[in-house]
This record gives sequence, structure tokens and C-alpha cells, in this order.
Amino acid sequence: MDLYEYQGKELFKRFGIPVSEGRLATTPEEARAAAQELGGQVVVKAQVLTGGRGKAGGIKLADGPEEAEEHARAILGMDINGHVVRKLWIESASEIEREYYLALTFDRGLKKALFMFTKEGGVDIEEVAANRPDALARLHVDPLEGFQPYQARRLIYGAGIEDESEQKQIAKIAERLYATFVESDAMLCEINPLIVTPDGEVKALDSKFTVDDNALYKHPDIAEMRDLEAYPPEERQAREKGVTYVKLDGEVGVLGNGAGLVMSTLDVVALAGGRPANFCDLGGGGDAQGVVDALEIISADPQVKSILFNIFGGITRGDEVARGILQALEQLTIEDPIVVRLDGTNAEEGRELLQQAAPPNLHVEPTMLEAAKRAVELAA
Ligand code: GDP
Ligand code: MN
Repeated sequence: MDLYEYQGKELFKRFGIPVSEGRLATTPEEARAAAQELGGQVVVKAQVLTGGRGKAGGIKLADGPEEAEEHARAILGMDINGHVVRKLWIESASEIEREYYLALTFDRGLKKALFMFTKEGGVDIEEVAANRPDALARLHVDPLEGFQPYQARRLIYGAGIEDESEQKQIAKIAERLYATFVESDAMLCEINPLIVTPDGEVKALDSKFTVDDNALYKHPDIAEMRDLEAYPPEERQAREKGVTYVKLDGEVGVLGNGAGLVMSTLDVVALAGGRPANFCDLGGGGDAQGVVDALEIISADPQVKSILFNIFGGITRGDEVARGILQALEQLTIEDPIVVRLDGTNAEEGRELLQQAAPPNLHVEPTMLEAAKRAVELAA
């Protein structure tokens, strides 16, 4: 789960990483009030889950409340890389002497957290890594040893920081960033830029923060930060109902149990000459309510012309899934043709149940390929 800049900064602040004071605003009037409260020069920052806001015109300095309101009016509603700006972060403006880059990410290959630090911040880090790899200090942290003071020194000297006060401040920030990263189960904590002010103060001016979805149950406060409005309505509905759903752009609605099976179903639909309209995974289950929820979400998509159910009974029994489908069809009116392929545990009982009781728009096919062909045909 990606956090907005202001949410990441809230976590930074909690762990003692210096950030500027700021306020959230969703209207130009709120932006004006925020600037009034903060006083002095402020920066109006678009809050979107994508980078490059500065280049896109989503970050503007304002000399006072009036100008903050003006900028807010211009930035709200702006489209930045496909993300519409609905929220602003109004923050006390900083004077910038230098811009550095400090990040902590998870290196899956080595199963260790990886620090990256360079004096060449503010810009595209990929560019620095590609053209001037020597300017980028990299350092892995052993999860059992934790982040050690000598490692902080290695990182700082490695990037060529010479000022003693900066060295001290950055060492502390790196140590705290490691604590933030570990304690919030992050996959990425990036500060770009980490600035030095003319007074020599080092602080985080931006935040890019990704938390491991699988650890969110341990962090209800972070889980609550999820902004449901940032998702398309079907995906939002699916999330609320606990169904895994990804919208695609074809016409065959796909529903299966297990991510692997669903992925191969997408391939088989393509093989049969069709295009999947979505990826929908019921998970291990297949109980009536799960089927109802999933069918509701899939059939709400106007692009869907036929629905392909691909179920392999492992722990889930075929007859149970068949009952789930029948029950779902009693509760919902679905006009699109539905093709079912049922295999595995109690598949025969399941197929029989469907054949006896199913409405005329439901077709049962014996194999995955035949089912996909049928669904593609019916979608045409
Ligand atoms: P990004 O473009 O999405 O990465 O957004 P950032 O928060 O990193 O801001 C982009 C750039 O805007 C920074 O690199 C700074 O140069 C500038 N900027 C942001 N905040 C301030 C500020 O408080 N004062 C000044 N002078 N510039 C700022
Ligand atoms: Mn940035």
C-alpha cells in the first residue's frame, strides 16, 4: 500500500525524522486558512500516489494566504500521470541550500534492507544510478544485527558528506529511517529531497512510503490511511467485500479460485481468441456469499459480455461451489451467458447439480479450453 506524502511525513515525524509543519486541505478556502495559520511563505503540494509532481506543476510556492488559495484552485482537479488531485498538503516553505537523496528499500534477492544515499538528490535517482553509479552509496543491513553506527558512517562517507554537523544529523536520520522502515513493515521509505537549509539544518522535504500489504493487520493505524476514493469504484467495492479483483479491458469476465488458476484462465481465454475483462480470484473458498459478491462486481462492468467460471475443487468441494453458483443466481439477475468448468473434488456431483437446476444462460463444459472457447464465442 502506497502512502501519500503527508501520511509518510506523519510517520517520519512519529519516529523523529525532521519534517516541516503542514496542514491538509481539500478546497482553496482550506488552503488559504492553512497558509494563514502557518504564516509566512508556504508551499502548496498536490497529494497524489505518483511521483514527478514538481515537473507536472503540482508543487507551487506561495507568499501568503491569497496566493496559496490561487495555487490551490489551479492544482486541485489537475491530472498528474492519470491521478486526479483531490487533496493538498500546505507546508511551511523551506529555504534550500542543497538537495540529497536517502532511501531504504527491501532487497528481495539478499533478503535485507538496502540503504541508498547520494548528494545528487531532487532529480531522477534512476538517472544518477545509471550515469554516475559512484555517486550513489549503497549499504545492506542485516536484520538480526540491525543498523549499526559504523554503517551510518560508511553511508555518509561513501556519499562524500564532509560537513560534521551534516554528518551527525544524517546519521541520526538514517538510524530513525531504519526504525521507521522496520517498525511499520515498509517496503520502501524514500526521502527525495533530503534538504540542507542555509542554516545547516537537514530535513525531509518529500516522502515516498510503501507498506507491505501483508503486514497491515499489525498496523491498524496505517491500514486506516488507505484512501478508498483513489481506487476505481468496482475495485473499491471488491476490496470492501474481500474479493481480489483487477479490471482489464476485454469482454470475458473471469472468475476462478486461486491466483494461479485465474492467471492460466486468462491465458486460455487469450488462446481461444478472446480478451479477459478482469481478473477475479475467489480465493480458497467458493461459498455462496463469495460467489454472489464476485458475480455482482463482474456483472456490473458493462464491458463484460460473458462470464467464465473456472473452479478446481481442492479443499473446496465441487458440489459446494455449484450450490454457491445456484444460490448466487437466485439472488442476482444476470443476463450475460455464464460458462462453468468444474473439476477436482466432487466435480461430478457439482456438474450434475448445475445441469439439473441451472437457468438456460448457464453452460457447463468439461475442460478449461472448451469452457474458454464457449465463453469467447458467447461474448462475440
Ligand atoms: P516530487 O516532484 O513529486 O518529487 O515532489 P517534491 O516534494 O520532491 O518537490 C519537488 C521539488 O519542489 C523539490 O525538489 C524542491 O526543489 C521543490 N520544493 C518542494 N518544497 C519546497 C520548499 O519548501 N521550498 C522550496 N524552495 N522548494 C521546494
Ligand atoms: Mn520528490
